[in-house]
Amino acid sequence: MPTDALALRTQALKASPTLAITAKAKKLRAEGHNVLSLAAGEPDFNTPEPICEAAVKAMTDGLTKYTPSAGLPSLREAVSEKLARENGIRVPPEGVVVTCGAKHAVFGSLMALIDPGDEVIVFAPYWMTYLDQIVLAGGFPVIVEAKPQDGFAPSVQAFEQAITPRTKAVILNFPCNPTGAAVTREWLGQAAAIAARHDLWVLSDEIYEKLVYDGYEPVSVASLSEETASRTITINGCSKTYAMTGWRIGYLAAPTRVAQAVSNLQDQVTSNATSIAQAAAVAALLLPAHIVESMRAEFEIRRDLMVGLVRDVPGMSCTLPQGAFYVLANVKQLLTPAIDDDCRLATWLLEKAQVATVPGSVFGAPGTLRLSFACSQEQIRDAMARIREALCNLPH
Ligand code: PMP
Ligand code: GLU
Repeated sequence: MPTDALALRTQALKASPTLAITAKAKKLRAEGHNVLSLAAGEPDFNTPEPICEAAVKAMTDGLTKYTPSAGLPSLREAVSEKLARENGIRVPPEGVVVTCGAKHAVFGSLMALIDPGDEVIVFAPYWMTYLDQIVLAGGFPVIVEAKPQDGFAPSVQAFEQAITPRTKAVILNFPCNPTGAAVTREWLGQAAAIAARHDLWVLSDEIYEKLVYDGYEPVSVASLSEETASRTITINGCSKTYAMTGWRIGYLAAPTRVAQAVSNLQDQVTSNATSIAQAAAVAALLLPAHIVESMRAEFEIRRDLMVGLVRDVPGMSCTLPQGAFYVLANVKQLLTPAIDDDCRLATWLLEKAQVATVPGSVFGAPGTLRLSFACSQEQIRDAMARIREALCNLPH
C-alpha cells in the first residue's frame, strides 16, 4: 500500500466513540460476558407494529426501486404536514429532504452551508458528531460552554461574545444529548435575535423533541417568526421517537434553495434513503399518539429511577434531564490519582463492574459519565448497583 495515501480529512477523523462503546458492549455480551450497557443512544423498544407492517406492504407492493433523492413525495408531504401540525413550522414539501438518519441531515446541512474557514458555534456539552462533521465540511467548531448550575442552558451573552466575522452558523440541540437540557421559548427568542443580528444560519437538531418530561413543551425555533424560519434548518428523524435507529430515516426542513442544495448533494453521494424505510416512516409520522406516549412515559419513569440512583452514589451528582434519555453524572469527586479522569473511570467500570458508560470527555464535559436510561428498569437498577459496589474498591 502506498504510504501516506489517506486524505488529511480522514486522518483527522475519529470513529464515533458512542457507537464504538455500544458495539464493544454488544460484542462482550455476545462472547458470554455479563455486561450491562448504559452506553447506547438507542431505545430498547421494538419498532411499533404498524410501522413494520407498512414496510412489509411496501416490499410486497414493489416499492423497491429508487425514489427521488430528496425522498418519496408522500413522505416529504407527511413531514411538511407534521411540521405544520405539531411544530408550527410552515415548509412546503419542496423544503423537506429525507436523509439516511438525522446524522446525515446534519451533515447535508453543513456541507451545503460551510465554506473552508467558516466558524460554527456549538454549545458544550455537545453531541460529538457535530465537531467532526464541521471539520469534514472544512469549518472550525467554536465551543461555548453551558454550565451545570444553569441546568446546562447556555448563556446567550456567551453565545453572542463567541461570534466573529467568520461565524456562519450555530447548532442548537434541545433537548440535548448528552445533558437532557431544554431551553425556554424566551431563550430561543433571544438566540434567534442574535442569529438575525449577526446573519447566522441556525441548525436546530430536534431529534429528542417527543422524549420530554415533567410536561415540558418543546418549541421549534423556526416557528418563532418568518425571519427566523428563513435562516433555520430544522433537523429531526424517526430513530429516537419511534425506536427506529436501524431504519436510518431522518429529515431536514429548510428554505427551498438550501433543501435543493442538500438534495443535489444526495444525488451525487447516497441517492435516496431506503425506499422501504421511507414508506415505514410515513406510517411512523401518522402513528396513533398513545403508542409514542407509552414509550415516553416509560422513559420518564426510568429517568426518575436513574436520577435517584445516581444521586444515591456518594460522590456522584447530576442535573435533572428535561428530555432525551441520558443522565450526565458528575464524577469529579470520585477521581483518584490512579483513576484520574472520566475515560479511565469508564474503562475501569467496564472491566471491574462490567457496565458500559460513555466518558463525558467525548461530549466536551470532562469529569462526567453519560449514563443512558434507554434500557429496562431492571438493567438500570442492576447497573447502578454494580457501579456503586465497584466504586468502593476504586484504586487510589
Ligand atoms: N442528533 C442527536 C443529538 C443524536 O443524539 C443522534 C443520535 N443518537 C442523532 C442526531 C442521529 O440520529 P440518527 O440515528 O437518526 O442518525
Ligand atoms: N447518537 C447516539 C448516541 O449519542 C448514537 C451513536 C451515534 O450515532 O454516534 O449515543
